[in-house]
Amino acid sequence: MLGSGLQALARGFVDLVFPNRCGVCGTDRAGGAGGEFRHSLCAECHRAVTTDPHAACPFCAATVGPHADTSTGCATCRGSSFGFDAAVRLGPYEGQLRDAVLRMKSIAGEGLAEQLGRVFWEARRGELSNRRFGVVVPVPLHWSRRFTRGYNQAEALGRELALGLGIAFAKSALERVRNTPQQGQPTASARRDNVKGAFRVARCASIAGKGVLLVDDVMTTGSTASEAAKTLKLAGAESVVVAALARR
Ligand SMILES: [Zn+2]
Ligand SMILES: [Zn+2]
Repeated sequence: MLGSGLQALARGFVDLVFPNRCGVCGTDRAGGAGGEFRHSLCAECHRAVTTDPHAACPFCAATVGPHADTSTGCATCRGSSFGFDAAVRLGPYEGQLRDAVLRMKSIAGEGLAEQLGRVFWEARRGELSNRRFGVVVPVPLHWSRRFTRGYNQAEALGRELALGLGIAFAKSALERVRNTPQQGQPTASARRDNVKGAFRVARCASIAGKGVLLVDDVMTTGSTASEAAKTLKLAGAESVVVAALARR
């Protein structure tokens, strides 16, 4: 009697946390809440966000042609001086993944961001487990933007990746000291200048000598992630790999 009561209570809680609507497209979901990696995505959205339709460059995660030779990078990153060593993406910024990112940006998006962090881990655990990371660090928002949004998407994603990897999550290791305008600059050098000096390492001890997994929601030109990675390396990080949910 008590057992079934508790079960009903637990089911009620699951329904509350994972309502029977897809977190991306909003349609009613048939079936359970994502199995081991619990999420509210319907089968179609889950398939769409976890099936990268293109090949991606292993160094900068940009979309490349199906037969491109990426052994020394791609047209986007060859000859560029990105501060990170490699980048992993869940997928390109299009379709349902783009819808998901836009939904995450509202205040109610934190739960969805956590779910997408689990989906990201589930889909890329092989790739991520192959590398030696010591700590996960999210790309921080400036405090004023964080205040407006209510949370930092990169932090919600990063927390789930750290849980999956079973390593430390240093959510405040990196700080954004300058509120940089959105990246609308026309040239690569203008974009680099825009983010120069934007970050500061607040806790060197948590990253010194470690392989860092730097997490962001969207990677556009790579200049923000690059500046964050350079800042981490100057403070003693051994290597920096970027995990971006979506790559433009
Ligand atoms: Zn859906
Ligand atoms: Zn590349």
